[in-house]
Amino acid sequence: MSLIDYRRDERVAVISLNRPEKANAQNEAMLLALDQAFDRAVEDDEVRVIILRANGKHFSAGHDLTPREPDARGQSMIDDVPRNGLLKMLKWEAKHYLGLSRKWRDLPKPTIAAVQGACVGGGLMLAWPCDLIIAADDARFSDPVVRMGIGGVEYHGHTWEFGARKAKEMLFTAGFIDAAEAHRLGMVNRVVARTELDEHTLALAREVATMHPHALLMAKQAVNQTLDAMGQYNAMQSVFALHSLGHANAWAACNWPVMAGLDEMVDANREKRSGDT
Ligand code: ZN
Repeated sequence: MSLIDYRRDERVAVISLNRPEKANAQNEAMLLALDQAFDRAVEDDEVRVIILRANGKHFSAGHDLTPREPDARGQSMIDDVPRNGLLKMLKWEAKHYLGLSRKWRDLPKPTIAAVQGACVGGGLMLAWPCDLIIAADDARFSDPVVRMGIGGVEYHGHTWEFGARKAKEMLFTAGFIDAAEAHRLGMVNRVVARTELDEHTLALAREVATMHPHALLMAKQAVNQTLDAMGQYNAMQSVFALHSLGHANAWAACNWPVMAGLDEMVDANREKRSGDT
């Protein structure tokens, strides 16, 4: 079974995350398959609008944090850290996380995300790069990465999506923003009943698809270039450097790219100290 489904409905490409048994957690194969699906939609001249949706109860639980597969020599990125530092891992994240999300944000066709259930951590990095977001009434959004000792996911959309105060609240508490609040804050365009999510998103995509494709591209670029003139691109690059510092700090403290929970760390240090005496 493929991790990504692709179909075309007249002028609309419909791309579906298809790992529902894992709440659409993103592994490398899924991200690369998703990128290929976006490329396919871009290259198909018949396609005017792209929908990104997800099979199952949840849009995406984020990045799949199970240790990454070893390469042909049996080496994983984690094995490489003692010898070469975090270089390999951070290059991987720059390409697969920040890089792909940035690429998808600038695809030369309009994109619409249809989000239901949980959209957590890396899930935000699939929804935010889309031009429009339609949320089901059960959708909820969170970046809980601060719990792992890192200041947030690799793609810092937070401040741009709903302003400085809410960005800090979401990060400081690792809390959820529900669909109604996301709509009030301007992070999602519309909220619809869960049962109407696909139908409503397709109707909107068809409406957008009646516009001239070149005009749509210019409209999209007008907004994205304005954001970049306001500093979005440079801000995201510098926040990615902070994210990398978070991984480095976690490695220094725990020999792992993310921190253990605070309670576990206190317990471990207590054990270590009592072992020393
Ligand atoms: Zn990371």
